[in-house]
Amino acid sequence: MDSNSNFDFLIIGGGIVGFSTAVKIQQSGKSVLVLEKEKTPGFHQSGRNSGVIHSGIYYKPNSFKSQLSIRGRELLIDFLKLKKVPFRLEGKIVVDTNIEKIEHLLERSKNLSMEGVKILTNQELSDKEPNSIINQGLFVPQAGVVNYRKVTEALAEEFDSLGGKVEYFEEIISIESIKGGKTLRTKKNKFQGDYLINCGGLHSDRLAKLDGLDPNVQIIPFRGEYYTLDKSKSNLVNNMIYPIADPDLPFLGIHLTRNIDGDIEAGPNAVFAFAKEGYKWTNFNFKETLSSLTYGGMLKLGKKYYKTGISEMYRSLNKKAFVNEINKLIPAITTKDIQVREAGVRAQAVDKDGSLVDDFMFQEGLSSLHVLNAPSPAATACLAIGEHIASKVLR
Ligand SMILES: Cc1cc2nc3c(=O)[nH]c(=O)nc-3n(C[C@H](O)[C@H](O)[C@H](O)COP(=O)(O)OP(=O)(O)OC[C@H]3O[C@@H](n4cnc5c(N)ncnc54)[C@H](O)[C@@H]3O)c2cc1C
Repeated sequence: MDSNSNFDFLIIGGGIVGFSTAVKIQQSGKSVLVLEKEKTPGFHQSGRNSGVIHSGIYYKPNSFKSQLSIRGRELLIDFLKLKKVPFRLEGKIVVDTNIEKIEHLLERSKNLSMEGVKILTNQELSDKEPNSIINQGLFVPQAGVVNYRKVTEALAEEFDSLGGKVEYFEEIISIESIKGGKTLRTKKNKFQGDYLINCGGLHSDRLAKLDGLDPNVQIIPFRGEYYTLDKSKSNLVNNMIYPIADPDLPFLGIHLTRNIDGDIEAGPNAVFAFAKEGYKWTNFNFKETLSSLTYGGMLKLGKKYYKTGISEMYRSLNKKAFVNEINKLIPAITTKDIQVREAGVRAQAVDKDGSLVDDFMFQEGLSSLHVLNAPSPAATACLAIGEHIASKVLR
């Protein structure tokens, strides 16, 4: 790599958001360099998630999440078809004991002109999921599944074929504003460009600070833990069963999903992680944990939701408690039927008042743009997020 080259755009982060943005900008004829600290695309959140193509029904009308997930889903499906990345769109059943919540979502689907969304009769529910004890649910045909690690790889290939450049094993440790641009340094190299885009996921807050910003948020890592159902029991679930999320907590709750390989996955719960990349209880990073626990916003959040936090932790450490949750949907699943799957860690922005930031969040700096909150459904929305960023920075 010629470290003296000057690129039009430098993008930190080779996840699904970084590569989608890189593709959209490279398509305009500008020169783009993606810098990624790991060895492959999609190594963190983009390669360790639920793999759901979200319909867009859950999100507050007119929010970035709502607009970009609906547009992004369309762009994503076109891209998957073009690149022959396997996916399935079989729809999901959204469940809740409160019929008003279901009716509210049905109403929203009408406002969003989503076709085919309907409340299922008891007969339709038992036809679709004969082993469940759900007695009311909403069928949302627009939802589907895909492997987002493969999607990120396909985006990286597309970027490469457009002439884009990627450097792996390059962890940015300093950002300097120079006349007309930025100099980024890693332990080995320095890279220069006119404009910086930070798609650093779990580390995006720290990168924004390196660029001289004082963001009103901090990324708090929450581990999402999953189980996979034994293949011999995978006939117990046909497709996807989702509870309606608590609107105050932007996590979707424990759901059951038949993934793209046909395995049934249950999860995730949401446990505070003791490292930004804390995929196991034993992954501990003193500096990162201290930074999370001494952050005013985190202390306020802990006060508000300590009961939820404790019950999530209990469920994380107690398989039976996890199974009890699944049994609210499918009673025949036992602790013997499930094995731990690789976990993921969510990059969740928390503001100084202790609220989990619900919407996607972007902040501009001097010749820079920082993606400071891109949790679920950012994988579904990735290409629309890329389009949105490109339209801002190419202006
Ligand atoms: C458990 C879980 C379940 C989810 N389920 C879904 C779902 O079903 N559907 C959906 O649409 N979304 C889902 N999501 C959300 C989705 O996975 C993320 O929103 C999306 O992957 C975010 O992509 P990203 O590119 O912003 O982040 P990442 O994929 O984390 O990429 C950031 C990249 O930046 C790199 N980086 C960081 N710091 C530096 C540095 N200093 N120098 C160089 N590189 C750096 C990292 O190595 C990383 O590769 C889920 C997320 C989780 C964690």
